[in-house]
Amino acid sequence: MELLKEKILNEGQAIGTNIVKVDKFLNHQMDIKLFNEMGKEFKNRFKDEKITKILTIEASGIGIACIASQYFDYVPVVFAKKTQGSNLDKEIYEAKVHSFTKNTDYVVKVSKNYLSKGDRVLIIDDFLANGCAALGLLDIISQAGAEAVGIGIVIEKGFQSGRNEILKRGVRLESLAIVEKIEENKIYFK
Ligand code: 5GP
Repeated sequence: MELLKEKILNEGQAIGTNIVKVDKFLNHQMDIKLFNEMGKEFKNRFKDEKITKILTIEASGIGIACIASQYFDYVPVVFAKKTQGSNLDKEIYEAKVHSFTKNTDYVVKVSKNYLSKGDRVLIIDDFLANGCAALGLLDIISQAGAEAVGIGIVIEKGFQSGRNEILKRGVRLESLAIVEKIEENKIYFK
């Protein structure tokens, strides 16, 4: 997606050789005009699929998923929670995820009330690195007996193993921008 790539080049920042910082329009401040275009593009890529729910993970995936939902007939957006507040249902699906940016493990949780057999689920997230977050969500979909229709990612880091891990599981992956490498503080796309 050209608009997104331009935005990454103009407003993003490379940190070392493997982190893309996009706080200015995606991970902290959010550019809603861009989000709208991304939502349309996700719909365009998955237009032939019947989707009943969008699943994402807090926090950065939520904004993108909500805007995208408007292009998928306003299907409900469910986000996996990283903490268990007292208002979370007792009956939950959970999966362990290793955080790439924080280098720790955490457990993501989804109430059994919001994902079930018969659901056709599109996962949407901001980044794909080694695929741990996406695999955790796939695990939860499988526990629910639902079907994973595909995964839509805003920025994939093509030099990490996420794509392979997802394709190995036979799930369709669509990324709006694929970073091929970061060299001397410059970001190169595939
Ligand atoms: P994965 O689970 O695929 O290894 O990593 C995906 C998660 O880690 C994303 O949801 C995102 O929060 C975070 N992440 C991974 N790489 C980057 C990066 O280069 N920049 C930012 N901002 N977040 C990243």
